[in-house]
Amino acid sequence: MKDTFKHRGMRNKLADLVESKGIRDKKVLEALRAIPRHLFMDSSFEDHAYQDKPFPIAADQTISQPYTVAYQTELLGVEPGQKILEIGTGSGYQTAVLLHLKAKVYTVERQLELYKKTNIFFRKMGYRPKKFVFGDGYNGLPEHAPFDGIIVTAGAPEVPRKLLSQLKIGGKMVIPVGEEDQVMMRITRKSETEFERESFGSFRFVPLLEDKN
Ligand code: SAH
Repeated sequence: MKDTFKHRGMRNKLADLVESKGIRDKKVLEALRAIPRHLFMDSSFEDHAYQDKPFPIAADQTISQPYTVAYQTELLGVEPGQKILEIGTGSGYQTAVLLHLKAKVYTVERQLELYKKTNIFFRKMGYRPKKFVFGDGYNGLPEHAPFDGIIVTAGAPEVPRKLLSQLKIGGKMVIPVGEEDQVMMRITRKSETEFERESFGSFRFVPLLEDKN
């Protein structure tokens, strides 16, 4: 599959739509215009790639809705060079958005099938996260902590403590919290022991599952 003029046109429309839904961060919108979302999906579903919808990928997982990706990324407020931990690599689309913002990305996926597929895809596309790890995101990556930001792209029944402990002071975590529906939360580490919690809109994600490796 290729990236064509037609795809770029559809992406511009998608970014305009996402902007009309309230996303203001120009760099995030620019990432949506730049990243060929159709290449993150199976070729037979190409026509769905530039709708503002989630879509099934391998292993019963989904590529997140573009608006949701933009929303989480905007809340995270990524600056170039920051160390960002992503839990739930999935298709790698959110990873690509973070890379476009020039973050140093550490990303974790627990489904082996997806991990393998996305790993090959990253190589093919030249996407270079600092680390792409097959494992359980509940543990984070203590050996690479602390992080400026942590983004969780699956619904967590509660905020994983180990992840909180891997935030820098001043660092932020964006995580959808809840069982069936989730509330988007942003947690800012104010000091060694203090965390500020803010709640945003309601979303629906696939669940953040505990280790089954
Ligand atoms: N950012 C991805 C979202 C994929 S859906 C994208 O836009 O494509 C959420 C992903 O989280 C799935 O790939 C799922 O396998 C993964 N996941 C679920 N529980 C996990 C865990 N404990 N650790 C790491 N990844 C997990």
